[in-house]
Amino acid sequence: MSLKIQGGIVVAWSGSHHVLIPDGTVVIEKDRITYVGTDRSVAADQVIDASGKLVCPGFINLHVHSQLNTGDYLITDVTKKDYLGANYFVFGASAKEKRPSPPAEALALGAKYALLSALKNGASTILDPGGGVADPEAYAEIVGQVGGRVFYSPPYRSSDIFTDSEGRHYYEERPDGGRAGFQKAVDFIRRFHGHHNGRLQGILNPAQAETCEPALLEETVAAARDLQVGIHIHAGGNLREFLRILERHRKGVVEYLASTGILTPRTILGHLVFIEGHSRIDYPAGDTLKLMAESGASVGHCPHKYAKMAGVMESFDRYVEAGINVGLGTDTYPLDIVSEMRYASLFSRLVDRKYYGARPAEVFNAATVWGAKALGREDLGKIAQSAKADIAIVDLRTLRYGPARDPVTALVEYGGGADVDTVIVDGEIVIDQGRSTRIDEGELFARAEATANRAWDNWQGRDWAGRKTEEIIPPAFPTRKD
Ligand SMILES: [Zn+2]
Repeated sequence: MSLKIQGGIVVAWSGSHHVLIPDGTVVIEKDRITYVGTDRSVAADQVIDASGKLVCPGFINLHVHSQLNTGDYLITDVTKKDYLGANYFVFGASAKEKRPSPPAEALALGAKYALLSALKNGASTILDPGGGVADPEAYAEIVGQVGGRVFYSPPYRSSDIFTDSEGRHYYEERPDGGRAGFQKAVDFIRRFHGHHNGRLQGILNPAQAETCEPALLEETVAAARDLQVGIHIHAGGNLREFLRILERHRKGVVEYLASTGILTPRTILGHLVFIEGHSRIDYPAGDTLKLMAESGASVGHCPHKYAKMAGVMESFDRYVEAGINVGLGTDTYPLDIVSEMRYASLFSRLVDRKYYGARPAEVFNAATVWGAKALGREDLGKIAQSAKADIAIVDLRTLRYGPARDPVTALVEYGGGADVDTVIVDGEIVIDQGRSTRIDEGELFARAEATANRAWDNWQGRDWAGRKTEEIIPPAFPTRKD
């Protein structure tokens, strides 16, 4: 089966950088790109007319938790104004006796919904650092159904976080230090790595820098080497984490992680916002960025999520200029990797007070080739001969954009995931005219809505203070009842 995309502006790979080919042609044979150029004469079984559209490498979203937005919605809890209580602790640290155990089918639904949502927004590849599905078989099946490229294994940790009856967060160590979870992850990778013609890839997910003991991180590095997979860990995510590591190890988070050996060229640190030298932390920066750059570890930068919590990485440009490989992720909904490029650019400009900073080329690289590099994949994030046939076609001819002088600048400054028209993964069209070719979206949405509303309606049952959703997040306006 061969496929030809013609007539669009192709963002092709020159060998060292992206280059635009107007009225370009891309030919795909099976799962690989076989031709990129201007010759329209190559025959193919199927032709996609991309006239007026931007033919991009499939984007790489380095942070998609495969779950519904139920918890995301509560992230800006107005009742806990102390920053230590914020971030995922708001919804992730329940009272111990109220720890939720959602039914398997709700978890599977969340996973399917998130993976499809990220894909529709243009991400042909996603890194899932921990979703909700308990059954490994079910997860692998969902990846097969949705059709995107997914890096995953179940996350593990040495200690859990809970909220006590006074609303204080605390850590509780697991008797096995997290080894059972770690073993499950290793088993998952042994069993499913490479399934669905390689669309399902293993990656080890020690959950957070401060919830994994140093020995577990060391064992993770050894296992990743054995299994030949990468590692993702949340790090620099919040002030609580920073203080916990400082108390226990007398080091800042990057310095501490470096001491465990986990900073390798196959490691991605999700967020890396609250680090030594950040303006919200009174701790000397020293060589933090240099240490990161020299280790070869990457950052999975999720600017929108942090902006919701009034936080920001300082800054995208500084990290890039220090030589750190930075990719992009969404973390919370919307799982819109196109808009995330704009957030990355805008917030870097704001932090550095430099309106000409974080140029479109840099954030586009972060969402494509740099994300691929983070995952150790030379054959992703670029449109080049013999690269994987993962492509996102974006329609720029909408009144919202206005005429586009430079399409990549237009995409970064004005675009969104809703403009993604077609997504091709492994040579297969999985999103066509903005709709999944594999999944009944209407049915999926209706089930998601019912599931999320059930969770929000019953939130007081799991909340430490028995608060309702509307107390945690008051609605924008009252509802008229008559
Ligand atoms: Zn996360």
